[in-house]
Amino acid sequence: MPGRNNVISDASIKRVVLVGAGHAHLHVAQNAREFVRRGVDLVLVDPGKFWYSGLATGMLGGIYEPALDQVDAQRLIERAGGRFIADTAAGLDREKRALHLASGATLPYALVSINVGSEVALPHLSGEDHAALRGTWGSGPRIWTVKPIANLWRLRQQLEQRFQPAAAAPLPGPPRVVVAGGGPTGCEIALNIDALARKCGARIRLSLISRSPQLISRQPRGAAKALAACLQRRGIELIAGSALQGIETDRLLAGGQSYPFDLLVLATGLKPARVIADMNLAEAGEGSGMQVGRNLRWTSDPAIFGAGDCIDFDGRELPKLGVFGVRQAPLLLHNLLAALDSQPLKDYQPQKNYLAILNLGCGDGLATWGPFYWRGRASLWWKDRIDRRFLASYQQRE
Ligand SMILES: Cc1cc2nc3c(=O)[nH]c(=O)nc-3n(C[C@H](O)[C@H](O)[C@H](O)COP(=O)(O)OP(=O)(O)OC[C@H]3O[C@@H](n4cnc5c(N)ncnc54)[C@H](O)[C@@H]3O)c2cc1C
Repeated sequence: MPGRNNVISDASIKRVVLVGAGHAHLHVAQNAREFVRRGVDLVLVDPGKFWYSGLATGMLGGIYEPALDQVDAQRLIERAGGRFIADTAAGLDREKRALHLASGATLPYALVSINVGSEVALPHLSGEDHAALRGTWGSGPRIWTVKPIANLWRLRQQLEQRFQPAAAAPLPGPPRVVVAGGGPTGCEIALNIDALARKCGARIRLSLISRSPQLISRQPRGAAKALAACLQRRGIELIAGSALQGIETDRLLAGGQSYPFDLLVLATGLKPARVIADMNLAEAGEGSGMQVGRNLRWTSDPAIFGAGDCIDFDGRELPKLGVFGVRQAPLLLHNLLAALDSQPLKDYQPQKNYLAILNLGCGDGLATWGPFYWRGRASLWWKDRIDRRFLASYQQRE
């Protein structure tokens, strides 16, 4: 890989390493010149492009094309004078202040910042359940997780292929698709799979299984009711109050019942990316986030910062939402520079309320803000505008 070896062997240069092109690191990468001006080598390590979750369910539903939903993080940081390494972090040597990469290389740092996001939290599955995850359906997997976001583009391609009767192996009836997870993501996924099927003129049997009796249980009750009504109108079967107990190759067990599927999508919540534990940053145990203080600095080592879904903030878990990483971004940039300059750090104040807008896959959005909610075209228009503006702010500068 060009440019990697020369970075890695030189321990004399003052270096700040950004691990993961998450929301907060996009902002830091865009401001790489601030580091270069101080004679600091700013390096971003990520396996590829940033995929944005805000438009991801609309991409699955066929409204958006995948190119719109990505940011080329390499171009973003290189344009601002920083450097990019296409690799993944595998471990951290805090004594030597060095990051270990999956390729086997080692990257020394003065400061390291972690923004590696999250993965789907699979409810206690047995070894057999995990074997079932490897089953196939047509050209792709039979079981998908909603993270990484790029999965949703591959899922759309697989569905579009299956929805063409001539291309797919004949099925005895319409494909049976099950989405597990009654949170905002599971609901959006089910509604947008339905939207894609309608767009392709295909018939499917679609079910949504929710552990909680109420959908989107952290949001207003009225919004949950509006969502349940929307699923019903679209002919999506809702199985609420059924906790997932196990997965076989072609059926899942939930609430004591067995549900057959041709395709299963798991949207059963998010937990910090497993590399947090691999780097020995998950002090509270496997699946926990790295504990950062109010200034986003890891509580056990002043050379380590963190942001986004992979952190626990000031002793508590924040909602696993991109908007939190976006708000942390300017603070993280400030604090990395302040740490280099031996200046005081600032505190991040998490927002109490946040705007969440679900794409219902029919041209409508369902917006919630604290106890309020609105359903309609204006909500989706607003979401589209916010998301496009966010992406454009990084894509224009690629
Ligand atoms: C389908 C779906 C829809 C969603 N919709 C919304 C929404 O509308 N609004 C909202 O606020 N939130 C939404 N979320 C939640 C949102 O996706 C996450 O909260 C958000 O992505 C977290 O951002 P982050 O910056 O922590 O990490 P991410 O944006 O996930 O970025 C992490 C980066 O780290 C990289 N990485 C991972 N491991 C390593 C490693 N070992 N080494 C190097 N790099 C690594 C990844 O490649 C990735 O580029 C949605 C989630 C899903 C699944």
